[in-house]
Amino acid sequence: MSEMTLLEGDPEVAGLVQAEERREFRKIRLIASENYVSRAVLQATGSVFTNKYSEGYAGKRYYEGQQCVDPLETLAIERAKALFGADHANVQPYSGSPANLAVYFATLKPGDTVMGMALPSGGHLTHGWKVSITGAFFRSVQYGVDGTTGRIDMDAVRALALAERPKLLIAGATAYPRIIDFAAFRAIADEVGATLLVDMAHIAGLVAGGAHPSPVPHAHVVSTTTHKTLRGPRGAMLLCQASMAKDIDKAVFPGLQGGPHNHTTAGIAVALKEASTQAFGNYAHQIVRNARALADGLAAEGFKLVSGGTDNHLILMDVTPRGMTGKAFAQALDRAGLECNYNTVPDDPRKPFDPSGLRLGTAAVTSRGMNEAEMARIAGWFGRVADAVNDTETLDRISSDVCEFTAAFPCPGISVQ
Ligand SMILES: *Cc1c(COP(=O)(O)O)cnc(C)c1O
Repeated sequence: MSEMTLLEGDPEVAGLVQAEERREFRKIRLIASENYVSRAVLQATGSVFTNKYSEGYAGKRYYEGQQCVDPLETLAIERAKALFGADHANVQPYSGSPANLAVYFATLKPGDTVMGMALPSGGHLTHGWKVSITGAFFRSVQYGVDGTTGRIDMDAVRALALAERPKLLIAGATAYPRIIDFAAFRAIADEVGATLLVDMAHIAGLVAGGAHPSPVPHAHVVSTTTHKTLRGPRGAMLLCQASMAKDIDKAVFPGLQGGPHNHTTAGIAVALKEASTQAFGNYAHQIVRNARALADGLAAEGFKLVSGGTDNHLILMDVTPRGMTGKAFAQALDRAGLECNYNTVPDDPRKPFDPSGLRLGTAAVTSRGMNEAEMARIAGWFGRVADAVNDTETLDRISSDVCEFTAAFPCPGISVQ
């Protein structure tokens, strides 16, 4: 009996997959946490490794039949260690949030003090924000950014750490456009006797490609997602110094998770191989050049950039000087074929569900081969959309211009035209 394809067996899901491919191809995707993975990563992630249970670690599993999983996970680990220069790597965390929670489990008891960046300043939920388990089950103190410069004030971080004595100090962000001083964070951690976790989820691809300083020499443990600038499947990794290896592994399994997602491990291994190439280094550097070019273009269109610009892949801007809110603008941009997310800005007087700003990133457009000239065109569209937020006819006209423009830039992993 021949087996049905997805299209034959489930035309409804197959249709949605095709529609998503078309959508990702036609639009200009500027969501800072998104990307296009390669066909090779898609194939590995869609492989039969999804069929296999393998609780434990290579050589110490609780199920038989690990002849292929053990070498696969070992390959991913060795590639991660080599790429980032880490003593130890764990590639099993299901995603960035559980990876961070595993670090809490490895280093804290409930009620211990954790210190991370506040969500409205650009920190992640899992850095101790109150609605997160990390803010509910632990005593969380939060640092922010300076309201005028938009930057982390290391003197303020040090003063707070000295006053609150956290056991876990977290550096890293989800909406911060500048380089973080990892060495200064480590000095503070040492001064107060804290473990330093650097969460490099957003910038991992830039670090791998040599376009951003690495936190690995400074942090006791580094967490990262694998699906943002690193351009792998949805997943995460923990990298740490040898002295923490046992505690980290135990915290991931059996502490927090059951069986690893081996199909994701396969995709991570492929992505890590890709990330070790010269082509990936070129991509990482081009992401940063593109972010600068887009930032310059947006400033010229009258948008106010938080911190005045960017050092990485990410731009945070206040759109209220152009007479609208972040949400209204993001919705108009989406209609015009440009995808991004609305975001709070430092000291935002508005609510998170309708904040003052937008967050943009250049990883996905760079993966399509767009360069500085294309960033200038995109900035121009931002200006046109801002002038036409409620004018659906104009937005639809821009959308067809965008569609024509994107057609010239193939998407990795997508063959629809
Ligand atoms: C995206 C992100 C995460 C969480 O990743 P998920 O895979 O969405 O759980 C954690 N930390 C930072 C800084 C992030 O940007």
